[in-house]
Amino acid sequence: MKLSHRISNITGGGSDGWAVHYRALALRAAGVPVILLSMGEHDTRTDPSILDAMHDAARAGNTGYSPVVGFDSLRDAVADRIQTRTGVPTGRDNVIIVPGGQAALFATHHAVCDPGDTALFIDPYYATYPGTIRAVGATPRAVLAHADNGFQPRRADLAAAAPDAKSLMINSPNNPTGAVYTPQTMDDIADTCRDHDLWLISDEVYDTQVWEGRHISPRALSDMADRTLVVNSLSKSHAMTGSRVGWVCGPPDVIHAIHNLATHNTYGVAGFVQDAAVFALAQGTAAEEAVAAPFRRRRQLVLDALAGQNVVRAAPISGAMYAMLDIRATGLTGDAFAEALLDAERIGTMPGESFGAGGAGHIRVAMTVADDLLVDALRRIATFAASRCAP
Ligand code: PMP
Repeated sequence: MKLSHRISNITGGGSDGWAVHYRALALRAAGVPVILLSMGEHDTRTDPSILDAMHDAARAGNTGYSPVVGFDSLRDAVADRIQTRTGVPTGRDNVIIVPGGQAALFATHHAVCDPGDTALFIDPYYATYPGTIRAVGATPRAVLAHADNGFQPRRADLAAAAPDAKSLMINSPNNPTGAVYTPQTMDDIADTCRDHDLWLISDEVYDTQVWEGRHISPRALSDMADRTLVVNSLSKSHAMTGSRVGWVCGPPDVIHAIHNLATHNTYGVAGFVQDAAVFALAQGTAAEEAVAAPFRRRRQLVLDALAGQNVVRAAPISGAMYAMLDIRATGLTGDAFAEALLDAERIGTMPGESFGAGGAGHIRVAMTVADDLLVDALRRIATFAASRCAP
């Protein structure tokens, strides 16, 4: 029996880019000590107080179906957070609770793209982006953000890709590049969307991890609220990746449409998880800063470890839990460098090419291991890179 074209085509037939990571895992399973810098997940777990809230909610009986759109208490808490952070009037009608940012990316594309529409995204990109677009029957089109422009997309490249497109997806702070889009970049993005009548899908899951500059939510830019759908979750901000709780924020008619989708798809998010999310958000920004603190500290450690040499250059690490390292001075591709680094030094990284053409000649390092391991790995990466340079 033949599967649908839509589901068969999700991966686009390309490699998934995880070859080095899987090889590193296999080495580790065989007892070889490997420093794994390929995992985009905190090395801390959900705070016990949030787990207590989850437990208490479940024990109190919140284990049945919950409203598909989310509890009013959580929709209100999310709307308050958004309004406080952006100044844009936001109420519960602007918010639907979904099982994580990934579900939100799918739902938003499903809501705005018809089969055959072109959906833009920025390359380098988070691994699931093109597949999410294909999963709704649309066609992904990459807009390159160049390393030499600090991985900020350029206005001319956006404008060139936009004319027949339906939507544009952005992610700032960015995985994998660590870029935080400047006010100028955000203005260029907003202008492109207005000029070409595009929906803007803004993935803001790293909005609590900003080390340089400030996070701008494009929904707050003039005349953008009606065409912007913000995707966010508690995965990164509260180390709640496994709880699967996030949201879409946008105009009420879009939220209504996504509610309809959720009724036929996820049927909502576990009530006890939503209660834990209300508790987590009530802890305010101090709790978010505590979760972000190790990455803020390690970012500086990465910069210090790379100081005094110029073979490996870090792209600006302005936000998120990643450092994109430019290894072009070695003459190797990111793929070849990451493979050779694993063989020689037992350090697992992600080749830049696995995030798209824009990542060529780079490797991505996730700052998700203990400080001393990270510093040791960075020093060895620099020494290894120097040894690969022509004399
Ligand atoms: N967007 C980006 C850029 C991510 O890095 C991730 C997770 N790594 C997600 C979305 C999805 O996160 P979640 O579904 O856990 O909210």
